Amino acid sequence: MLSALALGVLLAACDPSPASIALRQGKRPPVTPPPPAADTVATLATAMPPAEREATPPEPASPGDPAPADERVPVANEPIAPDGDATIEEAGDKTGDDNTLELLGQQIPPGTSARLTWAASEVFEGVSTATPVLVVNGKRDGPVLCLTAAIHGDELNGIEMVRRVMHEVEPDKLRGAVIGVPIVNLQGFRRGSRYLPDRRDLNRYFPGNPTGSSAARIAYSLFENIVRRCDALVDLHTGSFYRTNLPQLRADLRYRNVREMTQAFGGMAVLHSEPALGTLRRAATEAGIPTVTLEAGEPLRLQSSKVSEGVTGIFALLSSQGMVRRVQLLRTPEPVFYESNWVRADHGGILFAVVRLGQEVSAGDVLGTVTDPITNQQNLIYASNGGRVLGMAVNQVVMPGFAAFRIGIETDGPPASMLATAEWGQTEMGGAPPTDEPAAEAGEPTAVEDADLEETS
Ligand SMILES: [Zn+2]
Repeated sequence: MLSALALGVLLAACDPSPASIALRQGKRPPVTPPPPAADTVATLATAMPPAEREATPPEPASPGDPAPADERVPVANEPIAPDGDATIEEAGDKTGDDNTLELLGQQIPPGTSARLTWAASEVFEGVSTATPVLVVNGKRDGPVLCLTAAIHGDELNGIEMVRRVMHEVEPDKLRGAVIGVPIVNLQGFRRGSRYLPDRRDLNRYFPGNPTGSSAARIAYSLFENIVRRCDALVDLHTGSFYRTNLPQLRADLRYRNVREMTQAFGGMAVLHSEPALGTLRRAATEAGIPTVTLEAGEPLRLQSSKVSEGVTGIFALLSSQGMVRRVQLLRTPEPVFYESNWVRADHGGILFAVVRLGQEVSAGDVLGTVTDPITNQQNLIYASNGGRVLGMAVNQVVMPGFAAFRIGIETDGPPASMLATAEWGQTEMGGAPPTDEPAAEAGEPTAVEDADLEETS
């Protein structure tokens, strides 16, 4: 297929803006006058014509019937699935000739907002689970930015970030489109759990499989029906398992389009990390969709300041792509790139931190105390190197070996070794062939442990 993606890449090559998300499409001006802008989430539902309200997948799919959605499109990197009634080309056409956005079987005219329903999964009773998808299709043509939150159902800050962004973006002033999935893992969210009901981590199953496990099918449906419509993706997370993160981006900086995307967030900290297999970030990046994870705060809490920082970063991204206009009173600060390592507790007991998130520390500084509640024996945790506290455990009882503090080491930019072309060759990537692991990786936790911590967020 000559996909929209390939076409977009082609067009992007002509784009004078190097930092552009880039997949722009030449379009004629809208042929119909758009309805009034919806300026709150509450009015998203009420301001639009009934046809766009509570849209559901086309017949014969009832809301939530996963099979038709899964079968509609073939898997990109697997043998073709059984014939469906549509192809990627049809389903994946981002915009029609008049800037109409096609998504989930619905048409969203330019200059309008819509609330759609993505139905990928069933709960045990066989009843459909319909997940809301918010869309703002701008009056003018431009990139499609997607926001996904709560792939881990207990990570709440991202849900609020999506709400605020979708609330603030005005369809008649937007260039391009923003698609927000506030609660990807609705089943986990309802139970206050990171996982799906079968204890699987959804963020290990992308790009999914239409005939695989429940998690693989959900991942597949999200990936084919929504993610492939995106020109760029921000996946919103928090720390996990009683850990909290400084608002930061996780990005595979070996990809040029990903690097450029991180720089568009303004001054947000950027941590290079090669995503674990099965993460949405990895699958989307490999599919040529520049993707970052935006980490902020801790799970099971709503933290207004963390949410605000994330929203500010997302709007900086939108602004840098020319999707929204924002008056910048101050020059946007440059991002700061980090490598990192974890400092672990060598003793079990009650952990109290003596540093705060974002604090600069020097090698040998005391980061926290671990006290045995029975013997009153106290041990200190020291910084093994100087840097900035990018992530840390909240105060709790810990076991020896518990990763307690993540210290970020500032770099001048993405290290040269990270600028190499990744093995997952993509047209957007630049640089030399891959080199060995960065030296900084030596002595860090094992790949499995590190990946675990990396993405359990
Ligand atoms: Zn997460």
